Amino acid sequence: ASNSNKQLFQAEPELLANSVTVLKKRYLRKKESGQIESPKDLFIRVAKNIAEAELKFDSNADVDSVADIFYNQMASLKFLPNSPTLMNAGNSLQQLSACFVLPVEDSLEGIFEAVKHTALIHKSGGGTGFSFSRLRPKDDTVKTTKGVSSGPVSFMSVFDAATETIKQGGMRRGANMGILRVDHPDIMEFIYAKQDKTKLTNFNLSVGITEEFMKSVKNGTEYDILTPRDRKKTGSKNAKEVFNEMVRLAWEGGDPGIIFLDRINNTNPTPAEGEMESTNPCGEQPLLPYESCNLGSINLVKFVKNGKIDWDDLRNTCNIAVRFLDNVIEMNNYPIKQIDEMTKKNRKIGLGIMGWADMLVMLNIPYNSDKATLLAEEVMKFIRDEGRKMSVELAEKRGSFPSFDKSIYPALGFKAMRNATITTIAPTGTISIIAGASSGIEPYFALAYYRNVMDNNKLPEVNPYFLEKAHESKFYSESLMNKLADAGNAHDLTEVPEDIRKVFVTSHEIEPVWHVKMQAAFQKYTDNAVSKTVNFQNTATIEDVEKAYMLAYDLGCKGITIYRDGSRLGQVLNIGSVK
Ligand code: ADP
Repeated sequence: ASNSNKQLFQAEPELLANSVTVLKKRYLRKKESGQIESPKDLFIRVAKNIAEAELKFDSNADVDSVADIFYNQMASLKFLPNSPTLMNAGNSLQQLSACFVLPVEDSLEGIFEAVKHTALIHKSGGGTGFSFSRLRPKDDTVKTTKGVSSGPVSFMSVFDAATETIKQGGMRRGANMGILRVDHPDIMEFIYAKQDKTKLTNFNLSVGITEEFMKSVKNGTEYDILTPRDRKKTGSKNAKEVFNEMVRLAWEGGDPGIIFLDRINNTNPTPAEGEMESTNPCGEQPLLPYESCNLGSINLVKFVKNGKIDWDDLRNTCNIAVRFLDNVIEMNNYPIKQIDEMTKKNRKIGLGIMGWADMLVMLNIPYNSDKATLLAEEVMKFIRDEGRKMSVELAEKRGSFPSFDKSIYPALGFKAMRNATITTIAPTGTISIIAGASSGIEPYFALAYYRNVMDNNKLPEVNPYFLEKAHESKFYSESLMNKLADAGNAHDLTEVPEDIRKVFVTSHEIEPVWHVKMQAAFQKYTDNAVSKTVNFQNTATIEDVEKAYMLAYDLGCKGITIYRDGSRLGQVLNIGSVK
């Protein structure tokens, strides 16, 4: 029953010029009339489509009112779902998830089945993660042909080529995560797989690290190499030597990263459903084989009012976001049957944030401070707790996720839960641009830059909060803004008061230790994982990277990705390219 008296979809979207550009480039669809939809049409399309799910649980649901609530959250840029939902909801494709993990079996049929599934997922805008750990090592025998196998790294290039060929519905090129366990016989080849920077360009690589391996690194001992099929010891390697090579290669070019596999499985909410062996491309979403997950992010900028956090409003958005994401699971059109089944068993959602750096400057807190990491914990705990409460409430009406009884939740005292996971911190590469917010939990990369480098007369694009401060504290001048754009940061600009320089700290001024501490602070209250790049200056040493790896392990992170300035030309994802 819809409430026909009520005016729906009243507010105009609060978009900046930049956001509209991005939407036009990739998100706005042709309507049936042949016209291109407006940003407002887009949010209405998504809101109506996702609200339709309400009818599955209540035939009398007031779908219009729910759609209006969803619309207002998106139009006010308080909450945005991941790109595939914005692009595909209410369109024929209707593929709404950003993240998938596919199994790769140790047979030609299995491998090419996975390639086919990958193609279907990429076509619809999703990213895929794989573990190649089940594949027999290079030169191992193949019974049927009496030949030898070409090994996991060689098969990865098949997936890479397939990705290269499929342009995702003309929208974005595909992205993959490739994982190999550190105890796989081909681990060294995997570590070197992207040393040649023209290889596996559609892949991020991560070594799957075990607890045994980390212990051996710390004790300086050997660890066992195991056969993939029956996990029998087939050799051993010096853990510290392997670790050093991983660190050196990451220092050299960013790949491979590492994920702490045992730790991920220790926090697996549904161990009875299987083992987690991979994450999605950017690392924030560990999943079981054939699981998918849809993400959504809260824009923290919108919850700072008069220098304070409006917790009530944040709670309200958490509630709506959880309902929205649970609805997405219902409305989603899954690329293959297995994914449909697996996703609906656990009903994982990934609610996270963007605009963290913005929130910190609005509250006058430097990113590299204990105050900031404490606030990170407070904000994320709030979102997780409120999100869980809403998931429990939904479960009472809609039922718990089907594998709830065998999940970790009953032992934690929960009587019902709609979603096996609630929180994930995504990179928000594109949706943060749409929202006009800083991306995910990353610090600012630069405070000002020239949009058009060829045009010398043009005023630089300055961080709006810095600009506001400059006027407020009366240190604004055109020449200062030019200096700021040249340097990218205010570190040496003595015209800017020191306390302001400290608050407006940028990525390369922040010690890697603080990057890791921030990731760990958010991880503490994130069910899934946290997307974070630990940035190093070009002059950083291999030992600096090693320290960051050890700290990530010691502080409970689920993995770590580093990037040393200038060490790689292009990255797998086109994050930032439209900025
Ligand atoms: P967005 O801001 O577009 O919603 P994010 O930058 O937060 O997306 O990325 C979230 C996840 O979406 C990634 O971890 C990955 O799984 C998927 N993804 C992002 N970019 C791509 C891409 N170009 N191709 C395929 N999947 C992608």
